[in-house]
Amino acid sequence: MIDIKKEKELAIAWLENQEGTMDDETLVYLSINGYEECAGFCASREYSEDHACRCRRQTFPTNKHYELYLDLRQIYQEWTKLAVIASATEGNDSESSETGETQ
Ligand SMILES: [Zn+2]
Repeated sequence: MIDIKKEKELAIAWLENQEGTMDDETLVYLSINGYEECAGFCASREYSEDHACRCRRQTFPTNKHYELYLDLRQIYQEWTKLAVIASATEGNDSESSETGETQ
């Protein structure tokens, strides 16, 4: 059984917390593979401020790390899109396939 009041307090404390470290490897891994928030229904999420549920709090030491993850994830997804476009248009450029070509 979840303690709603406690859960709200923990979420607020986590949102306000600035202390904590996370190793770059984990952050990069999550940015590439995606962090799956809450497998299924999450009671903690229902009651936590800003949906800063237990799952998120256990993965990220602070909200800053979580926001950094969101930024990195977005950048990674942009790169992936660009890579898809680049590989899809590769064959169309028959004149010059050398490196250092201008666009
Ligand atoms: Zn959750």
